[in-house]
Amino acid sequence: MLAVIAASGRRTVPELIDSSHSTTMPKADAVVILGGGIIGFSIAYYLSQDPQYKGRIHIVDAADRLFESASGYAGGFLARDWFAEKAAPLGEFSFNLHRELADKYNGHKRWGYLGSHVYSLSLDDAPAGVRGEDWLLAGTSRAQAAGGRREYGHVSRPGEAVNEDGTPAWMASQVGASWNAIAGTDDCAQVEPRRLCEFLLLECEKRGVSVHLNTRATRLDKNTDGRLSVVELEATDRQSKPTLLPCSDIIISAGCWTPRVWNTLFPTSPVEVKIDGLAGHSVIYRTPRYTKPFLNAAYGPGEHSQSKDQHISYAIYCPPTKSWTYSPEAYARLDGDGKPEIWIGGLNDNSTDLPLPDLPTDTKKLINPARLAELRRAAVQLTGMTNPNGGVAEDDLEVVSEALCFRPVSQSGVPIIQQIPHRALGLGSSGKPGAKVWIASGHGPWGISMSLGTGAVMSDLVSGQQPSVDVSGLRVELPAGSKL
Ligand SMILES: Cc1cc2nc3c(=O)[nH]c(=O)nc-3n(C[C@H](O)[C@H](O)[C@H](O)COP(=O)(O)OP(=O)(O)OC[C@H]3O[C@@H](n4cnc5c(N)ncnc54)[C@H](O)[C@@H]3O)c2cc1C
Repeated sequence: MLAVIAASGRRTVPELIDSSHSTTMPKADAVVILGGGIIGFSIAYYLSQDPQYKGRIHIVDAADRLFESASGYAGGFLARDWFAEKAAPLGEFSFNLHRELADKYNGHKRWGYLGSHVYSLSLDDAPAGVRGEDWLLAGTSRAQAAGGRREYGHVSRPGEAVNEDGTPAWMASQVGASWNAIAGTDDCAQVEPRRLCEFLLLECEKRGVSVHLNTRATRLDKNTDGRLSVVELEATDRQSKPTLLPCSDIIISAGCWTPRVWNTLFPTSPVEVKIDGLAGHSVIYRTPRYTKPFLNAAYGPGEHSQSKDQHISYAIYCPPTKSWTYSPEAYARLDGDGKPEIWIGGLNDNSTDLPLPDLPTDTKKLINPARLAELRRAAVQLTGMTNPNGGVAEDDLEVVSEALCFRPVSQSGVPIIQQIPHRALGLGSSGKPGAKVWIASGHGPWGISMSLGTGAVMSDLVSGQQPSVDVSGLRVELPAGSKL
């Protein structure tokens, strides 16, 4: 009997699949996806559209609740072209898929999909460099990507609600600050990531994808003809007997936990999967200056409308200044119920300072109140009530939630998407080649943006089709002689 399937989530999630799904043996061998974050669910979402995979897709997650990881607590900023060269085709493809999905399923209402105006705000003569260059930080910061962007040519559009200094009306006026608009709604957007994940889960559920919570894959075994194509699943809490599941494909998409899953299944592999966790605190809050969705000045009914989106969101990136040593990023977005809220983050800790816990559900106890206080200070300075006598803005903000989660950062700074050949699994002569093994992980600060593209590409790869975009630059280096 497979693991218990439990309900999930901070917010309402529809009941997960009836456990009878999980006890029925699949007609053909299963596709087992290890890790139920936004990447795992995006893969299942696209793959389950192919009838040959009906009833064959299993998502296995070690936690007893879904979306307690980065996928549930991220900022949800989406970009078309802010990525390292190797990831650029995937990034643009994914951005377009987000738009298509939102248009098709009313994502504007269901997961707060909105085009975004994006600003860079310098409070004083901040140095141009944002952070140090050690490999962990390479490609990990959206602020870094924002810093290198050209000016967009305006600070506000006609019809936008703005302060006297031209800043958006939800911001506090900033004396002596320099503002640049760096992107607009054609190239950037936002979602409420948890709600998007919940949508993907719901669609997967409708198509018979099985979800196994509180479960880990512990080893690969042989089937009756000696092929290594049976995966052993065991309850994380070890309260039930392990189960064997015959499979055609194993996809590891466990975010920061991908190296641990890899080392458990393939302890003698010469391939080292280098993905580290970069922890980030964040706060969601409301302000009296953002109580209704912002109208999109380019929207208008009828054929002359320049945009079909009635509302927009805002993103602000701030380099380090005298006020803060990190790069705050604030997103004015809609929550899953269409209510305005602001997400602020950008304050990060590397894996030495804040090691990855065993499960994302263990993360809450690692939250550092001092980090949250720093974020709140930045929130007040950026969006508190403007003090009519000048000086620092006043704190009239209402905190909705506070979180800590871990970005999966690869050594190359771009995601890893590839099949690992049998000879690189380190299984020696223990069995004949069997299940195909894939990695889809390491999306760093861009996993929400690149999620749908990764799902569509992985679906093509698994079903043996040419993917829509070239992801050959996203492979890890394999030991000599083990190329695909
Ligand atoms: C503070 C912060 C803000 C961010 N903001 C943005 C943003 O604005 N835009 C953007 O594009 N990206 C953003 N990101 C990045 C994005 O959130 C991540 O890249 C993305 O969520 C990673 O998704 P994932 O599915 O790979 O991993 P995760 O969401 O970490 O999911 C991994 C899953 O694997 C499971 N797991 C763990 N161990 C095992 C095991 N042994 N077996 C099976 N399952 C296991 C976990 O329980 C978890 O459910 C942000 C990240 C952080 C931390």
